[in-house]
Amino acid sequence: MSIKSNLLRLHERIGQAAERARRAPADISLVVVTKTVGAEKIREAIDCGVSVIGENRVHEAAAKHTEMDRSVEWHMVGHLQSRKAKQAVEVFDMVQSVESISTARALQKRCSEAGRVMPALIEVNTSGEEQKYGVSPEEAEPFIMEVASMHNLRVEGLMTMAAFVPDPEEARSSFRLLRELAETLRGKRIDGASFDTLSMGMSNDFEVAIEEGSTMIRIGTAVFAE
Ligand SMILES: *Cc1c(COP(=O)(O)O)cnc(C)c1O
Repeated sequence: MSIKSNLLRLHERIGQAAERARRAPADISLVVVTKTVGAEKIREAIDCGVSVIGENRVHEAAAKHTEMDRSVEWHMVGHLQSRKAKQAVEVFDMVQSVESISTARALQKRCSEAGRVMPALIEVNTSGEEQKYGVSPEEAEPFIMEVASMHNLRVEGLMTMAAFVPDPEEARSSFRLLRELAETLRGKRIDGASFDTLSMGMSNDFEVAIEEGSTMIRIGTAVFAE
């Protein structure tokens, strides 16, 4: 399997899932997650039309960012430590994994110094697994109120990772929870926050996520698997 044929097949499956949910495929954006993938393969994916890259480590992303001679958006999708905020602001166009106030404050400070506004998603732990990062659904509102008050961060939605389960149907309740939480938060009209982006769905569960309202899927394996 080549990256090109993987991407074709992926877009076919996105289209079919969207159709089942009576949604437009264009309303679902694709972030291709390139952790552990080398620059050559990333270039190949970009040449096949990929325009948003996701990475889960700042250092790895920074190295590739420097090396990359193609123009794409870079999204941070992994756990971010406060001390890496400065480099993250240099590399990323969006941070999808904001889930601690200290990291949010560090990002705010570094964005302010750089004179830029960082689009951000709030990571929510919808599976209840202890090893997962993310604010709990109950903590989400006060947490977002605080992040939304930081002038150099712009909350644009929510992100979640479902539990890794053999049957993707079992991930459905996580995705539904995230969508319902976004609807509730939208109703609160929090200044400086919108909830149009729902980043949910990975290689093993993106079709269920699309059926539950995902507007952004993050795919690695299904693009780069041989
Ligand atoms: C690795 C990763 C993905 C992509 O996972 P695949 O199963 O390879 O598609 C998506 N989101 C996050 C946060 C990741 O770390």
